[in-house]
Amino acid sequence: MATRGRDSYIVIGGSGFLGRHIVEALLARGDVVSVFDIVQRYHDVPFYVGDISEEDQVASALEKSSATVIIHTASPVAGIQDPALYWKVNVDGTKAVIAAAQKKGVRKLVYTSSAGVVFNGADIIDVDERIPFPEKAMDAYNESKAKAEEAVLAANGQNGLLTVALRPAGIFGPGDRQVMAGLCQVYERNQLHFQIGDNNNLFDWTYVGNVAHAHLLAADKLGETLAGTFDINKVKEDITT
Ligand code: NAD
Repeated sequence: MATRGRDSYIVIGGSGFLGRHIVEALLARGDVVSVFDIVQRYHDVPFYVGDISEEDQVASALEKSSATVIIHTASPVAGIQDPALYWKVNVDGTKAVIAAAQKKGVRKLVYTSSAGVVFNGADIIDVDERIPFPEKAMDAYNESKAKAEEAVLAANGQNGLLTVALRPAGIFGPGDRQVMAGLCQVYERNQLHFQIGDNNNLFDWTYVGNVAHAHLLAADKLGETLAGTFDINKVKEDITT
């Protein structure tokens, strides 16, 4: 289904680390793209300032940008002690994005969830997205990401909107303001003499450019084979063919 040429993309959270890479990837292939964020950091695409928990602000940006595809990467950073903020932005904010998208006739919504939504501190090895959410979430951030993901997937096919959620694990690469900064702080505080476990712990990391690329693939494929929950083996086939 060759509909991409007609699409207009809005990247919510497009001033952020991942969001910016998605904007650059869209620009590199010649797509029309704008950004919605509470902070403006770049000035090369149309920018709409606003808070996703204010549905009117999202709706106004969707209307002005004529967006047909939303890529929603906005979230407060992980690891802060503010459950109310996580709920307001990730749960209520994402529901506001869904409501605004449906009212404004947006066709596609790609949501950046997190691998943390299925993590409760115990090892997770060789699973796919069929693994259920844990009974007790790891923390307020991951709980709010899980609730947002649920809302996004439940909206699939409602009022003409197709939705999908991606679950990256740790993201690294140029523009990161969290991971490397945190590691540098640990070094500067000389907090180097700690070891958790037997020194064989594993954690998944993905290069930011690959995570951005996955969002573009998800947006492109949504409406063909991907929508809401799906068969991971079919997705792998689709992406490699
Ligand atoms: P980031 O902090 O660099 O970017 C998030 C952007 O969202 C920022 O520009 C921020 O201003 C914006 N934002 C925050 N609250 C907002 C609000 N109320 N309204 C509008 N905009 C708002 O974070 P990132 O590392 O680029 O993460 C992007 C997404 O990926 C997030 O949803 C995060 O949960 C998810 N994620 C990140 C990682 C990682 O390792 N960085 C891993 C898994 C999932």
